[in-house]
Amino acid sequence: MTNFVDQFDLIPPYCPNPRCSFHFGTNEKFYVKNGFATTDKPPFRNQRFKCAECKIQFSSNTFGLDFRKRVTELSEKILHYALNGMSNNSIARLLKVSEGTVRDRIKDMARQSVIFEKENYPVNIREDVAYDGFETFTRSQFSPCYVNTAVGSHSMFIYHNTFSPLNRKGRMTNEQKIKNQELIKKHGLYPQSSVYEETIYVMRNLSALAAGRTLFTDEHKSYMRAYRSFNCLMDLKTISSKKRRDSSNPLFPINRLHSLYRHYFSSQQRETISFQKHEAALIEKLQLMKIYRNFMNSKFVKKNKFDPNAHEWSPAMYVGVADKIMTFEEVFRLRKLKTQVKLDKKEIEFMNRTYQFSRQKIVA
Ligand SMILES: [Zn+2]
Repeated sequence: MTNFVDQFDLIPPYCPNPRCSFHFGTNEKFYVKNGFATTDKPPFRNQRFKCAECKIQFSSNTFGLDFRKRVTELSEKILHYALNGMSNNSIARLLKVSEGTVRDRIKDMARQSVIFEKENYPVNIREDVAYDGFETFTRSQFSPCYVNTAVGSHSMFIYHNTFSPLNRKGRMTNEQKIKNQELIKKHGLYPQSSVYEETIYVMRNLSALAAGRTLFTDEHKSYMRAYRSFNCLMDLKTISSKKRRDSSNPLFPINRLHSLYRHYFSSQQRETISFQKHEAALIEKLQLMKIYRNFMNSKFVKKNKFDPNAHEWSPAMYVGVADKIMTFEEVFRLRKLKTQVKLDKKEIEFMNRTYQFSRQKIVA
């Protein structure tokens, strides 16, 4: 780690000013050194710089997710524990930090990872894609939701995880019915077309990238309606939900992924008390899981006789956006700014934590 700190001390990779021509990175020496700023945490001083073109001042601090060494190690641990089944509270106790610190690190890493993903996303998709919803909830069983997941049939690369709130239906006790009605009276219904709209979003994003390939889904009406709503360049093939989901079922990659979600998120286990308190927390963990599984782990843990690379290649390697399994530092060491990539409306909402339909107050 020390090396990176030293390196960023010496070589700023871009100018943080969005209006400066050096904002998107350069090999030119566009800055001059401009003294030091002292801090109360290691390494106690930050090299300061001044951009030669726009004259803005900044410090080496600008370029690291957690420039200060002690905190950097903390983030890596938090990521690992959070994605391997520990609740934020137990992580906080183990690392002797506050629960708020854990939450903040997760939020920061999730935002950074969106920018990383933008810069490392396949420009075309040479495989079929499986698509289906993962049913879970935020805060309480009165706020069920779908995580709409698109995953590569061969690579297991997670192309999309989007979120749809659902209105609670089905069997309830009388007390639950009353409670449900109270919540609806207070907050209104969740939007009823969310699965349809999120599916259009995913299909539109995949359409040109995976033109001519097949999108496998189950027979959910919203999926078919979404597919027919525009000129999708993929073929759609629906699989009956009655068909066994063994490894010959085209939706098997989805099932496998969703069982991993259940296994690895403490919040998604049955009868859990560590559920996500609000939508943003769930979506942020899903975003981190996407990066973690796509870039930082092999496709399978064990050797696979039909797929000899599976225990050594990450999904990102299969789709051609990485040439090795990446480390935490390789993904997170260089802080990028959201002004350096082109974000769509949904991604901007993610960065700002804006969810209009949420029944909770979410602090950005
Ligand atoms: Zn500048």
